[in-house]
Amino acid sequence: QPDASASCDEQFRIENLDFSYLVDIPVLKNLNMKLDKRPTAIIGQNGAGKTTLVKLLKGLLKPVSGSIYFHGEDISGKTVAMLAGNVGYVFQNPDDQIFKYNVMDEILFGPLNIGMDSERAKKEAQRALELTGLTGKEKENPYDLELYERKMTAIASVLAMDTDVLILDEPTIAQDWKGRQIIGGIIRSLSERGKLVIAILHDMDFVAENFERVIIMAHGQVLADGTAKEVFAQEDALKKARLQKPYVMQLCEALGYEKSYLTVEEILKDQVS
Ligand code: ADP
Repeated sequence: QPDASASCDEQFRIENLDFSYLVDIPVLKNLNMKLDKRPTAIIGQNGAGKTTLVKLLKGLLKPVSGSIYFHGEDISGKTVAMLAGNVGYVFQNPDDQIFKYNVMDEILFGPLNIGMDSERAKKEAQRALELTGLTGKEKENPYDLELYERKMTAIASVLAMDTDVLILDEPTIAQDWKGRQIIGGIIRSLSERGKLVIAILHDMDFVAENFERVIIMAHGQVLADGTAKEVFAQEDALKKARLQKPYVMQLCEALGYEKSYLTVEEILKDQVS
């Protein structure tokens, strides 16, 4: 039964969530969190529980105790298949995901599998190809492509399902400057269309440039949560989570700037005005 107390912007609500793979080794500890439509980056040291958390949101894992609500509805008892049309998930390693021998077939598989009609699936696939910069590669065998292109193929195959939520596990790994620009564009485009993007990232400059909300996780708990500016100002939390600030911020501090800038764009804007 959908929960009427859920605010209309609320996408996920996590209540008192505990998770462990092995008895006696807790991985997520009494986690409470609400996710609205702001693009959200989850950062933290390896082993902090980031991937475990997003797998729970996708329904790939089940809570040991506590609840996860999606659009006000408890999803703890739902299967991955039931959530497939709502929550898209791009694995860190594209080779865990890709299984077709042609880029277009790979991209069309998801939308057709969730029951999208073929006309719309083709349109969504076309849009996904454009957004990921893969136009022209439709007929290539994904296994012949470079890692960064396979990562884009995996992203495109999930984009084509047009889900309300897109979860990206380390999308910028193996991407060069251009690839990072493309992924930044995807995040903006989805956000403009009212979709929620959640990403696990290690690249703090990319986080500062592209995410409205940043959550630091450490030892299965939330250590900090807020805008990039708020979170990267929390020296103690960063130290505890063994995270560094974005390079632009470090540089501004080293140069003795009075104001705190997170991105080059922000500096340039300020210089012009
Ligand atoms: P992160 O994504 O922040 O690196 P993970 O969620 O992958 O963290 O892992 C959190 C903890 O859970 C780590 O201690 C990790 O070793 C453990 N873990 C992850 N997957 C498994 C698994 N399949 N079986 C047992 N332990 C696991």
